[in-house]
Amino acid sequence: MSREIVNVMEELASSIVTVMLMSPDYQTFCKCEKCRRDILALSLNTLPTHYVTTEGGRQQAYEQLNTNDNRKWINKRIISAIHVVGRYPKHNE
Ligand SMILES: [Zn+2]
Repeated sequence: MSREIVNVMEELASSIVTVMLMSPDYQTFCKCEKCRRDILALSLNTLPTHYVTTEGGRQQAYEQLNTNDNRKWINKRIISAIHVVGRYPKHNE
């Protein structure tokens, strides 16, 4: 495999951000690529990194991180990032 180093938390957070922005709860928030990236970056700054180097390690880490208990605090940080970016969007620069 040609993958190098992957942050599994980034993959997980990215999919959660996508799903949340599609949900009715966040229909009033901007979903442009700039805001989506800012939400993800802001979330990742407050989430622990989880780097892996193999596909097997990636799957194992994903399963460990993606439990109900972990999703509660991960979701909480992503939700607060969605609100910060929604209040101070940078997409008009
Ligand atoms: Zn935007």
